[in-house]
Amino acid sequence: MSLLELEGVDAHYGELQALWQLDLRVDEGETLAVVGANGAGKSTLLKTIAGVLRPTAGAVRFAGRDVAGVPDHKRVRLGISLVPEGRRVFRSLTVEENLLVGGYRRRPGEWDLAAVYEAFPLLEDRRSRTGAHLSGGEQQATAIGRALMANPRLLLLDEVSLGLAPVVVQDIYRALPRIAERGTTVLVVEQDLGQALAVADRVQCLLEGRTALEAPVGSVTREQVAAAYFGLE
Ligand code: ATP
Repeated sequence: MSLLELEGVDAHYGELQALWQLDLRVDEGETLAVVGANGAGKSTLLKTIAGVLRPTAGAVRFAGRDVAGVPDHKRVRLGISLVPEGRRVFRSLTVEENLLVGGYRRRPGEWDLAAVYEAFPLLEDRRSRTGAHLSGGEQQATAIGRALMANPRLLLLDEVSLGLAPVVVQDIYRALPRIAERGTTVLVVEQDLGQALAVADRVQCLLEGRTALEAPVGSVTREQVAAAYFGLE
């Protein structure tokens, strides 16, 4: 059984349909990368999984349970944590306080401050610095660490590399295998194909709200994924 299963999911913003009969699965322990161009529906997909947006058709199952009617704050308790685009940290709190906020009402499990600092050594050096004085990369690492403190079974990451310098992106991406090693399943949404293919076990490419390609990373070339990404056939 997959940890997460979407079947025939439609999502709308008013009249505009953003997802069309979408099927998707994430198996326990794997890292799935969802890639696609601007507007392909990646953020909408994450919002649907996190419970911020209700699908207009289809099923969302988590750990075998239909979660369609479960609101977002309850999904966190079930083990689904979303790190949205935009690196939101509390600016007046220190890094460590930001992390501890994420651990409020945590599920029992692997993640604690020491584990987060092991995944992101740069955060340990900055533990007493306030959010307002962090670089973009440090803010992103703090936002991911905070989500991990809730002990998610499934971590959803939305465009973690957006607007960051390449060297900082490397720091963030270096942490992903460490997160997976602790048994946390990861769904990462990414516009950058190279980053996505470097960390994922499987890739699913969206094009205008539909799946254009889905495959284990080892079985496709970057060119094939790029062709699906741009809708070339
Ligand atoms: P990006 O990389 O730009 O975030 P994306 O793949 O995440 O792109 P979505 O943000 O999911 O794409 O958008 C899918 C479609 O839904 C687009 O046509 C977008 O314009 C539309 N859309 C997204 N959010 C809203 C909203 N809040 N209200 C209305 N339309 C929206």
